[in-house]
Parts: sequence; C-alpha cells; structure tokens
Amino acid sequence: MQKIDNYNFKGKKVIVRVDFNVPLNKETHEVSDDTRIRGALPTIKKIIEDGGCAILMSHMGRPKKNPDPQFSLKQIIPAIEKYLGPIKFAADCANADAEAKALKNGEILLLENLRFYAEEEGKPRGIEKDDPAYEAAKKEMKTKQADFAKKLASYADVYVNDAFGTAHRKHASTAVIADSFAEENKMFGFLINKELEAMDKVLNDSQKPFTAIMGGAKVSDKINVIKNLLDRVQNLIIGGGMTYTFIKAMGGQIGASLCEADKLDMAKEILDLAKAKGVKVYLPIDAVNADKFDANANTNVSDVDKTPEGWMGLDIADKSIAKFEEVITSSKTVIWNGPMGVFEMDKFAKGTSAIAKAVAKATANGAFTLIGGGDSVAAINKNGLADKVSYVSTGGGAMLEYMEGKQLPGIVAIRG
Ligand code: AMP
Repeated sequence: MQKIDNYNFKGKKVIVRVDFNVPLNKETHEVSDDTRIRGALPTIKKIIEDGGCAILMSHMGRPKKNPDPQFSLKQIIPAIEKYLGPIKFAADCANADAEAKALKNGEILLLENLRFYAEEEGKPRGIEKDDPAYEAAKKEMKTKQADFAKKLASYADVYVNDAFGTAHRKHASTAVIADSFAEENKMFGFLINKELEAMDKVLNDSQKPFTAIMGGAKVSDKINVIKNLLDRVQNLIIGGGMTYTFIKAMGGQIGASLCEADKLDMAKEILDLAKAKGVKVYLPIDAVNADKFDANANTNVSDVDKTPEGWMGLDIADKSIAKFEEVITSSKTVIWNGPMGVFEMDKFAKGTSAIAKAVAKATANGAFTLIGGGDSVAAINKNGLADKVSYVSTGGGAMLEYMEGKQLPGIVAIRG
C-alpha cells in the first residue's frame, strides 16, 4: 500500500477527497466550526510543499438538486483561504476539465459539492424504493456512478482519500474512484492515517485493563460495537439512556425512563455474553431523575433500579460517578462513546463532565484514550479537555462501523 509520508507529489495533479461537510452560520453563511477544514490541512500542505497541485472534492449537507445554492461549497472558500491563501473554484464538479488542466504546481482547486450529482451517492433520486421501476433505476445509477467516478479520476494523476467521516459509504469519491488508479498512485491522507492508527491501537494492540464506556440514547445503535468490544475489553461501563433497557431486563423499576422494550432480550444477551467472556459490566448504581424531559424539571436521586413511578433517569448520580471514575482512572486503555446523561441540559450534565475529567485523568496517568461519536466529542470539547485525551475521532458513523469490525468501503478501496 502506498504511504503519503514518503510519496513525492512534485509535478503531480492530486485529487483529494476531503471532509468539508462543515456547519454554516444560518444568517451570515460563514463557516461556524472549521475543525474539518483544519483536519485536512496537513495533507493539502504536503502536496503543495512537495510541488504538486491539489484538487479538493467534498460533499456538504444533503442537496437534492443541481445546483442547490444553499449547499454550495463556494461559501466555504474564505474559510479555506484563511489557511492556504487564494484558491480556485470549479462551479461544476463533473465538468471541471478546463480548470483541472489549467492548474499549476502549487495551486489548489476546489470542486463544487459532489452531492449536487446523485451519482456521488449512487442512489436514484425522485423514485421511491417501493416503485416497480426502482431496481432498474438503481442498476442504471450504478453505471452512472462508475462513469462519474471515472470523470473525477480523469482530472488527476494521484488519488488521496482523507475523509474518514464518509469512509463507511461506497460513494463515487470515497471508494469507486480508487478503481481508476494504480496501487502506487492511491493512498490515505494524514487524517485517515491518524484515525486508523488510533482505532487499530485500541482494537488490536491495547494495554490492559481496557475499559469501554458506552452511553447515549439507545442500545440498538451500539449493540454491534459492544459485542465486538466484548472480545477485547476487561471492563464495560454502561451509562446514558441505554442503561434502562439493561436495568429493566434485570427486573429493576425504571419509571418513565427511556427503554427499548423490544431490546430487552438483546440486553440480557449482552450481559450473558460479557459474563461468559469474563468482562466486568458496570451499570450505574444511582441516578438523577426528572419529573419531565425538560431543562427546568424537578429532580430527585434514587437507586438506578428504583426509579419512582412517573420519573425518568436523565443522568448518573454520585455513587455511579465515583465507581466509574475508579474504573476509568485505573485503566490503561479507554474508549468512550456516548454521554452518561442528557448533558445538553445543565441539570443533567454532571455525570458526563465527570467522566470526561476521569478520561483526561487516565490519560495523564499514561492510558491511551480514544473518544468518538458526535456527543462524546461535544462533551469533551464542552469541558475543554480535547487536548487532554489521546485521540478524538471525528468519524462518527464511520468510527462506530470500524469499531463493529466492519470493512469500510473507503478503507478497503485503498488498503485492500
Ligand atoms: P447517541 O447519539 O446515541 O450517542 O445519544 C446521545 C443522546 O442521548 C444525547 O442527545 C443525550 O441527551 C441522550 N441521552 C443520554 N442519556 C439519556 C437518558 N438517560 N435519557 C434520555 N436521553 C439520554
């Protein structure tokens, strides 16, 4: 597999799949969080400094037509130029031959939003799945997708994928395009390399004790990750809304707490599997309950399996925090996905903040700590601790699928 570190881009035209799916301010249309742009800079700078030129391609949002001005990447040009100086823009990503050809070494060209074309995702638009013509339309779209990918590939000599957030999708720019490049001319960028390194470290080369902290709303979203991790971890901490499906499965009283009634057997299965594999499961001991799902709700504290009738558990309470802290700070590897409570509301944010601090403390003690998933990343940022943990994954869905042990199309396309 080709490696970006020792590749010389001098004189090469390089098409780079970046993740510039950035949030925009609704009024000013300016980029409100440029983390993803900053994440792509090392790869782009390497290409330019080597003496090559970079053609950047990305999606933003979910446009359904072409063009769709509210999703135009033109809006993010100033946010890119802030770091890289003047760049060029091609207003039609599927007809950018002239712009690509005119590009000189050291220059950067940004292509318009890839998802202006249905071919990028390879799903037919304007036709429902239950339509008898859907299958034929889907087949036709696959051919069109391959052509679209070939068109993008024709602009460049080299393909670099640095968009981990879309690596779990088999899209034209994330996977199909790789077919048009010889093995020595396709590679991951620095960002994907860092993501893979961090994830492979916890999956395949973790130091014990290894603790997985799983939170968030639903157990059904995380079931496969939990199952895959049970082969690797010594401790599994469960928090957040998913707690109550487990507590109910164990016969506890959960009041009006969140519960997936159809997942009780699955919760039991996880507990049995953990037992069989010798994994210690830590469920909350106590909880902060609310009389309604509201930032100003009345609250009380109870044992987690004795939630009063009509009340709902929205955060872990002090005994749980103390136990979880003890487990986390004595771990050598930690992975954390999902908040411990409804941390968006101040009254129910204490548990999640305490866990963020405990993960930072474990890191200071020498543990390798990986935070992933939108809400745990937001929680770590909210507590100003992003630089006090080993790695914060920007991957979201892609990270969860990788943690499930799935083969991601964008990764396989290059790594094989
Ligand atoms: P997820 O996207 O699955 O990681 O879930 C994150 C969401 O779970 C956040 O918006 C939290 O507010 C929510 N959440 C966490 N704990 C609870 C809880 N005990 N009850 C209801 N929602 C929760």
